[in-house]
Amino acid sequence: MLGRAVSAVHNGIQSELVYVEADVSSGFPRFSIVGLPDSAVNEARLRIRSAFHNCSLPFPKGRITVNLQPASLRKQGSGLDLAIAIAILRAEGMLVERKQTAFLAELGLDGSLVPAEATVGLALRLAEAGIQELYVAPGPPIPGPLASLMNIVASSTLTQVVAQLTNHPPVCAVPSRTSMDDKTSRQDATIPFDMLDSLPNRAFEKRLLAISAAGRHPLLFIGPPGVGKTTLSHRLIDLLPNLSEADALRSYAYHELVNPNAQFSLRPPLREPHHTLTPAGLTGSGSPPRPGEVTLADNGVLLLDECFEFSKATLNALREPLTSGVIHVSRNGRTASLPARFLLVGTANPCPCGWRGYGECRCLEHDVRRYWSRCPGPLLDRIDLIHYMNRVPDGTNNPLGSRDPVAFELRQAVSQARAILEPVDELDPIKQFQPRAVSMLTHLCDKLCVTERVVVQTAKLARTIAALDRRDEIRVEDVEEAFALRSSARR
Ligand SMILES: [Zn+2]
Repeated sequence: MLGRAVSAVHNGIQSELVYVEADVSSGFPRFSIVGLPDSAVNEARLRIRSAFHNCSLPFPKGRITVNLQPASLRKQGSGLDLAIAIAILRAEGMLVERKQTAFLAELGLDGSLVPAEATVGLALRLAEAGIQELYVAPGPPIPGPLASLMNIVASSTLTQVVAQLTNHPPVCAVPSRTSMDDKTSRQDATIPFDMLDSLPNRAFEKRLLAISAAGRHPLLFIGPPGVGKTTLSHRLIDLLPNLSEADALRSYAYHELVNPNAQFSLRPPLREPHHTLTPAGLTGSGSPPRPGEVTLADNGVLLLDECFEFSKATLNALREPLTSGVIHVSRNGRTASLPARFLLVGTANPCPCGWRGYGECRCLEHDVRRYWSRCPGPLLDRIDLIHYMNRVPDGTNNPLGSRDPVAFELRQAVSQARAILEPVDELDPIKQFQPRAVSMLTHLCDKLCVTERVVVQTAKLARTIAALDRRDEIRVEDVEEAFALRSSARR
C-alpha cells in the first residue's frame, strides 16, 4: 500500500515543496530512501525506526521504499523526518490521507519533535502552495502574520501528532505561539523614542534624509572624523514606513537563514556590514548558499560606514541591485533572482587624513586622487545625494535658517510622499511636469552637458521633492532644488 505526505526543504536560498511517497510491501525487511537524499535525510531511517519503537507504534515488517519528489532536487536537512514517518503510517493504513496538510520537523529517537532549520521560509512556501495546516515542533514564536495564513499545530511528540490526526477536526494551534508574537510585532512597529530629535541644528541634513527615504535616493555623507556622519546615517531607518506583513515575513525568512535567533518585526531592516565584506558576502554565497547583505537589507537600509574602505570589487557589485532592485546569484549551474531593493547610505572622509577642506590636510594631491578612485565612477554616478557635512552649526549658519523639522512630522511626510510616488514607477514628463519645469530641466542639462542617466535621476529627485510637499505636479523650484542637491557636492 502507498502512503503520501507533503513537506518542504531549502534549495539554497529558496524553499521547495517535497512530496513524500512511502511504499510498504512484503519481502526481505529493508528501509530505503530514494530521490537524492543527503546523509541527514538518509539517517532518518534510524531515527524513524527508534521513534516508532519508543512511541509504541508498530513498525512495518516488510520492505519500505520512500521516494522524495521531485527526484531531481537534492534534499538536505532533517526536516523531512516527520513527513516520512506520517507517509509510512498512512501506507500501513493507520492514518487516512488529509489534503492541504504538511509536516515539518525532525524526530528524536524517543519520538520527540525537534524544530527544522529556518521553518518560516519553508512554511511560507507551503502556504503559497495552498497548504492550510502545518504540523511543526514547539520552538521559537511563529510570526503572527504567518499564523493567519495557515493553522500551525505545534506538537511535542510523534504520538501527539498521530492522536491529533486521528481526532478530526484537528487541535488548534498552540495559542501561546501565535498570540505572543502578535503582541511583539505590534510593539516593534512603533518607534519609542526619536533619536533624530536629539541631534539639533541639522535641518538641512534631516531634509536630505527625508528626500532619500521618500524616493529611495542613495545618499553619501562626506566630512571630517567626528562630524556626526555615522550618527545621522543610522537615523535614516527611523524615517522609513513600516513594512507590509507580507514584506516583513519575506524579510524574516531571509534573516532566519543567517541568524536562527532573528526577531520578527514590521520595522524595516538596517544592515551595516564591516568594510572587509567580500563581493560574495554582499550578493549572497556559500555552501549551502546564504542571502547576501543586499537581500537582507531589502526594503530597508544598507549602511556602508567609511565606504571607501570597502574593496572596489564589493562596491562594483552594488551597481546591479541599485539599478534593478534585484540580484542574480549563480551557484552550481543554477541562477536565483533575489530581491534587493534597499536604500543605500554611505559615509566617507574627504581624503585619507580626513581634513581636506576642513582643516590642516597632510595628504598629497596624488594620495587624494587615489583615495577617491577607490569608489568606482559608475557607482558614484548612481548616488543621487552627496553632501559635505560641517561641524554642528550654532544655529546662525543653518542653510534652512529655521528650526529643525521634527522626526515624527518627517516620517509622516515620507509616508505621504511614498503614497504619491509608489503607484507610478515611471516618470511622465507631460503629465507630471509643469511646461516651465520641463524647459528648465532641458536648459540646465544642455548647459551642464550631463548624461542621460543624470537627467533621469535629477527628474526623479525633483518628483520626490514635489511629493514631499504633497504635490503630484512638479514645478520649476523642484527642478532647481534637485539640480542644486545633485550638483553642488560633486567636484
Ligand atoms: Zn588629507
